[in-house]
Amino acid sequence: MTHDEPQGGAVEGAARALRGSFDGDVHLPGDAEYDTVRLPWNLRNDPRPAIVAEATGPRDVQTAVRVAREHGLPFAVQATGHGTLVPADGGLLLKTARMAAVEVDAERRTARAATGALWSDVLAAAAPHGLAPVSGSPFVGVTGYTLGGGVGWLSREYGFAADSLLRAEVVTADGETLVADAEQNPDLFWAMRGGSGNFGVATSLEFRLHPVGDVYAGISLYPLQAAPETLALYREWALEEPDEINTALTLMQLPDGPPIPEPMRGQRLLAIRVFSTLSAEETGQRLKPLLGAAGQPIVPGFAVMDFTQASDVVAGPPPPPLVARQHIDLFEEMPDGLLDTVNDAINPDATSPLNAIEVRHWGGAMARPGPGAGPVGHRDVPFTVISTAMYPPSADRERIESYVDDLVTRTAPYATGGTFLNFLGDPARAETAFTAENYARLREVKATWDPGNLFHLNHNIPPA
Ligand SMILES: Cc1cc2nc3c(=O)[nH]c(=O)nc-3n(C[C@H](O)[C@H](O)[C@H](O)COP(=O)(O)OP(=O)(O)OC[C@H]3O[C@@H](n4cnc5c(N)ncnc54)[C@H](O)[C@@H]3O)c2cc1C
Repeated sequence: MTHDEPQGGAVEGAARALRGSFDGDVHLPGDAEYDTVRLPWNLRNDPRPAIVAEATGPRDVQTAVRVAREHGLPFAVQATGHGTLVPADGGLLLKTARMAAVEVDAERRTARAATGALWSDVLAAAAPHGLAPVSGSPFVGVTGYTLGGGVGWLSREYGFAADSLLRAEVVTADGETLVADAEQNPDLFWAMRGGSGNFGVATSLEFRLHPVGDVYAGISLYPLQAAPETLALYREWALEEPDEINTALTLMQLPDGPPIPEPMRGQRLLAIRVFSTLSAEETGQRLKPLLGAAGQPIVPGFAVMDFTQASDVVAGPPPPPLVARQHIDLFEEMPDGLLDTVNDAINPDATSPLNAIEVRHWGGAMARPGPGAGPVGHRDVPFTVISTAMYPPSADRERIESYVDDLVTRTAPYATGGTFLNFLGDPARAETAFTAENYARLREVKATWDPGNLFHLNHNIPPA
């Protein structure tokens, strides 16, 4: 029997076992809340789990893993559903959102986040101490983001979020609870820093915080027509950026309704996003050529602000649950043909269904892994292009998907062929997120910790 083929009676047996020993709520099809709790944020799938269990603590996580395994049910774990790409149909879906406690140790500059915490929870706990995590969008889950690598606005200064991970408490596929860190179970610790949810269910993560006070940050909006010249400059200018400055150029199409203010609704624009831990003056000096190419902003947006506010401003308002198609490619350089494709992707005559196409300079500390760093990413790649289409389930999915497919075909000849797990919309391409050497090692570690591939409803890495 594979994990995807529960035998008759397995679901009933699993539900009975859970109801006897699980502290959180358990929902079955037909129960009042089932249709709410089964849905991820990303409505790309319409999953029909046999059981949805809402964990309240590590013991619940352990119980759920043991029950799924003993009853042969497919198993999946979810905090927010921003990265849920494979539906847990007929399986046991473990939801972790209720486990959201965050503790900060200001002296050691560390935080410990329970598995369902969001970055906004960590920001709120760390900010009073003048500390900040390598967070990205505040509304995504700490665990999924970090285990998938995690690239945020401090990444050029402090590396991937996975590089700041110090310790994970984990329930393994055989239902045991253990610690993975540099001393205890180091192979598991290595694999979890980029290999995502393949190796166990984390019940908490402990990670480094960094001393960050106010930052100079924000989004300035320019006419879309400024994009070609600004992008052409960016590909050279960005390579000279100091690590303290993180930037991205986004061609975007604003939603045609709330929360976007009236005059901006539906507009197609160039957005420059800046997040700098240098002073406003020094950052301003550095940005001068780039902003000169962009010209007069329609809405200027850079200012000194605290880290939490900057994180909110740069991420934009949390989008409601939508169908999301994201695609990322990595680039050694940005030749004219690639920039032409990017410039055409959001066209002024409004036929593009994309919300955004973002060119972002990576590098800095991301490209300088410390000794024993995890398998995250292709570290030496300077540029990424991320295309995002987010739309309601009622939209013309076929047209949108074929638009993105076509765009991907046109950018692919310039790309390295590698990818980054957190923005990889196609789980079948998980292998391309790693170097060949790291992927082979990940498969070995998987064979040690999850030889039966219990944790496979994800960016799956099959056991060697
Ligand atoms: C609008 C938007 C903005 C984003 N911004 C960023 C960004 O700034 N930077 C960035 O790097 N990424 C970003 N992402 C990608 C995001 O980090 C991934 O989608 C990540 O997987 C989300 O984690 P989650 O817990 O919120 O999602 P979930 O869908 O709940 O989880 C995703 C996957 O993470 C794994 N996982 C979750 N919890 C556990 C656990 N307890 N133990 C083991 N594995 C677990 C599982 O494999 C699960 O399928 C963004 C995505 C979206 C849609």
